[in-house]
Amino acid sequence: MFSATTTSRLAQAATLANTAPGPRGGRLLPDRLDQPAELPVALPNWNFDEDPSSATLRSVRKLRAAVAGIWQDAHALDIDAALEGVNHLLASAGPVHVIAPEPATERTPAVLAAGQDSDVPEKTLSTSLALALAEVALAGELTRLRTCSGEDCTNAFVDLTRNRSKQFCDEANCANRAHVKAYRARQAAESSDRGDHSDHPDHSDDPDHEAESDEMSSEHGSLEDAQEKKDKAGKKKAKKGKKKK
Ligand SMILES: [Zn+2]
Repeated sequence: MFSATTTSRLAQAATLANTAPGPRGGRLLPDRLDQPAELPVALPNWNFDEDPSSATLRSVRKLRAAVAGIWQDAHALDIDAALEGVNHLLASAGPVHVIAPEPATERTPAVLAAGQDSDVPEKTLSTSLALALAEVALAGELTRLRTCSGEDCTNAFVDLTRNRSKQFCDEANCANRAHVKAYRARQAAESSDRGDHSDHPDHSDDPDHEAESDEMSSEHGSLEDAQEKKDKAGKKKAKKGKKKK
């Protein structure tokens, strides 16, 4: 969908946005870019000095606010606002040109480039994220910039699934927590439908229940796959329930 370079830059953009204080995966986290020394820890792939200046930190915090704004606009489907945000970042990146990636044939699509080799890390970071977000906009894929639907989580993530079905971030177990909650709600609804708990088998002995728990804990599996399996498991269980009645 996107080039490897763009995909990795988008992941960096989400990582940066998610250092802001707020609900993250069910926990209220503090600002993780509060001190200059936190920069190389928060963004380990970006070659910041071990002891960056507070001016560097301020630049990265401004970039973080800009990236988070683009993400929120895209998630809210306000594409004009998201494009405006991308244009701001592109303007500070300086002249943008197109280059052939290496190795290239005469039909290899060119990629966007900007900046100088002498740029400081915060400038390189800003330029890279601007170019990646521009590529996303050019591909008409800004709606892939999403915010986690998990309870108490506002993490930014990029939905790279074919059918745009990803709803949860990968880093905070949010899909698992949501599935467990939905599963418990279903169980509670089923019990109250039956109105009688006495002839209902304990689900902890139910092999299907075990299987479902395993699926739910595979947080790195694709959500679609997990959902599909769960739907099947649900149908199986429904059949089984009928037999028992
Ligand atoms: Zn989340």
